[in-house]
Amino acid sequence: MSDYDYDLFVIGGGSGGVRAARIAAGYGAKVAVAEEYRMGGTCVIRGCVPKKLLVYASKFTGDFKQAPGFGWNIGEPRFDWKQLIANKDAEIDRLNGVYISLLEGSGVDMFHSRAELRDAHSVHIPAEDRHVTAKYILIATGGRPFVDESLPGVEHVITSNEALHLDDLPRRVVVAGGGYIAVEFAGIFNGLGAETTLLYRGEQILRGFDDDVRDHVATEAGKKGLNVIVGQIFTKIEKTADGLEGTLTSGEVLKADQIMFAIGRSPYTEGLGLNHAGIETDGKGAIRVDSFSKTNVDHIYAVGDVTNRVNLTPVAIREGHAFADTVFGGKPTAVDHGLIPTAVFAQPEIGTVGMTEAEARAAHGEVDIYKSTFRPMKATLGGGDEKMLMKLIVDRKTDRVLGCHIVGPDAGEMAQLLGISLKMGATKADFDATMAVHPTASEELVTMRQKWMG
Ligand code: FAD
Ligand code: NDP
Repeated sequence: MSDYDYDLFVIGGGSGGVRAARIAAGYGAKVAVAEEYRMGGTCVIRGCVPKKLLVYASKFTGDFKQAPGFGWNIGEPRFDWKQLIANKDAEIDRLNGVYISLLEGSGVDMFHSRAELRDAHSVHIPAEDRHVTAKYILIATGGRPFVDESLPGVEHVITSNEALHLDDLPRRVVVAGGGYIAVEFAGIFNGLGAETTLLYRGEQILRGFDDDVRDHVATEAGKKGLNVIVGQIFTKIEKTADGLEGTLTSGEVLKADQIMFAIGRSPYTEGLGLNHAGIETDGKGAIRVDSFSKTNVDHIYAVGDVTNRVNLTPVAIREGHAFADTVFGGKPTAVDHGLIPTAVFAQPEIGTVGMTEAEARAAHGEVDIYKSTFRPMKATLGGGDEKMLMKLIVDRKTDRVLGCHIVGPDAGEMAQLLGISLKMGATKADFDATMAVHPTASEELVTMRQKWMG
């Protein structure tokens, strides 16, 4: 008979926590999960899934524009935001139910409450005013939007959380930030017909991505009507009779109905009681872990965004699974964080895996670049001056493909498959030896022969 109520107590019912709980229970552990909002976590409830549904909605505008070229006359399309949000919410409710059923089916106990550490083996459940003890504790509390609280008028801004639940589609929107969330939501609002501005503090949006990708996305999004302002931040935001006014460092004033901040996310550890268990964090509040996701306290682990390693759903899931294998499955498993393919559901979409050109040059010295910019076939009849970008970065010494970057329709789908090739160590010769699939955009990946001379 164990001295504890549970073998494992998981704090946070998101991507990482739910996977860890289910796998650990499958190994025979007695498991509980506490979730303070809704089971499924950020990705399912207020992240990847609802966001992607809105991206789909916003892409119809482009399809409607291209339809006449293919012989379709569809009249004047009308868009109903309330209908979209209601349908999206119904789907999120369904998925929330699926997550609850999966946990029930795995024999995991659920606490629909916050949980806070009281000491290294116990948590407090405020909703039930009760203490629960566990042999192992997994912290999987994720992250939450960071907002600069010192900005005058910050109370008027929304984050991605609220953007998914607005009563109406704003007529004018400013999205502050230049990362994943900012460019994705700017694309959504712009596609749905709002007058949209993306406001970024640096020289070019999407820092960390390949420079050609950044320039290409900014140019193509501009062609779709997105107003991109760089080198500026808000100095204050005021409410007026006509909506909101945001003043920039330059003194320029932007008028909007909604101002959305997407300037990063912080690990969600506030009030968690880390100090009661002696758990160490880094300068940004992220929980420090080793390659097995173990904290400095032997039987306390942490996975996902709260550790701020690579903040993506599949990574949180993999870390949660590896934790359960390690602790309950007798299979010590460290997660390999190398060569993670990723997509940004911007408009145009980005799919990427591996090094940027700058990273490759710094790490490998001599690299060859293969680059192609072309008009997708659909635009020939559909019209428009949209361009797609494909770029391969190859190590001159070994011929290994170090990075692959795509901007354009279905780039995310391609990145998944390219991820396998690069993970297997594919060379440019392997790409060249692969027969093309015709007519597709991705055939460019195996037909680029000319090195880019700059
Ligand atoms: P989360 O999924 O955030 O789960 C943590 C859970 O813990 C939350 O449900 C929270 O309510 C709960 N919690 C926190 N504190 C407590 C407590 N004390 N007690 C009880 N419960 C608590 N990633 C992708 O790979 N692809 C995408 O397209 C993508 N799109 C995104 C879009 C948006 C708008 C956002 C915000 C994120 C997106 N992400 C995407 C990132 C992805 O959502 C996260 O990387 C992923 O959800 C992290 O999983 P996690 O388990 O670490 O945390
Ligand atoms: P990101 O870290 O991607 O981007 C944050 C942006 O905000 C950067 O452009 C950054 O600028 C800017 N910024 C930071 N601080 C300030 C400030 N004080 N004032 C003005 N601008 C500032 O964070 P996101 O919030 O966009 O997304 C969080 C994470 O969620 C992503 O990194 C990603 O891991 C994940 N995600 C994944 C998605 C996907 O897979 N498709 C979609 C959405 C989120 P600078 O570059 O100059 O630092």
